[in-house]
Amino acid sequence: SSRAKRFERGESNVTFEDVAGLANAKRDLQEIAGYLKDPEHYRRLGAKIPKGILLMGPPGTGKTLLAKALAGESDVPFFSISGSEFIEMFVGVGASRVRDMFASAKKEAPSIIFIDEIDSVGRARGTGLGGGHDEREQTLNQILGEMDGFDPHEAVVVVAATNRPDVLDAALLRPGRFDRKITLDLPDKKARKAILQIHSREVPLADDVDFERLSALTVGFAGADLENLINEAALLAGREDMEAVDMACMMQARDKVVLGSEREMVIGD
Ligand code: ATP
Repeated sequence: SSRAKRFERGESNVTFEDVAGLANAKRDLQEIAGYLKDPEHYRRLGAKIPKGILLMGPPGTGKTLLAKALAGESDVPFFSISGSEFIEMFVGVGASRVRDMFASAKKEAPSIIFIDEIDSVGRARGTGLGGGHDEREQTLNQILGEMDGFDPHEAVVVVAATNRPDVLDAALLRPGRFDRKITLDLPDKKARKAILQIHSREVPLADDVDFERLSALTVGFAGADLENLINEAALLAGREDMEAVDMACMMQARDKVVLGSEREMVIGD
């Protein structure tokens, strides 16, 4: 029930090795991982670590994956909640969940808090389409209040994700809040190839599978689409009673993913 699911706490075994491309993002987060692994060391040096990191990028480009990889790489617990869940809550519930989550994360520090879809609570005030407005504002204020209240050496890093940075309330982006921004782009050809390879690690492949060619034929695909492509190809091979996935399966799966996302776009508009 939604009552029991206040927020999720997890351990992650994902690391930066599971993330293809995104070299700049990984480099920035590597620095944070270094801190989370040994906050005492940084404390002795008087170094202040960013409290809030905003991951910005189109859907399926690996924002959640990166946040999990940061947790796995640092070997710290990971607390997560999605902004869109707050919208359905009664006034006050969102704020109390935020409070509980920050309290748990501090108790288990060093730790990471991940807030997915921050734009659903963090939209600029006064742009709402009515409904849930108070709730949103209270939740947002609670998040900001918690971050402002951090001890400067509190070893809790808050990572938030959005694909709508343009609608965010400026209050979120002020110094001391989400002042470290990381942009994730759609993968280029080389990154697409690497993503296809990562997601077919456990898939038996026929000799004719050519990831170089497949990566050239998947312009505009996000990581999530590429993962989906590999899975669709494997399902197809299963249906055809094949022992390995061949290039024909990959190409058919590619067309299916293209059609699927076109349909979504039509419905989404
Ligand atoms: P959304 O905005 O829709 O929440 P997101 O940016 O958080 O999307 P993820 O949930 O991290 O995207 O990505 C979905 C899946 O796509 C991941 O679990 C992963 O398997 C795959 N994926 C995305 N980007 C990459 C990448 N760079 N390397 C490897 N896998 C990737």
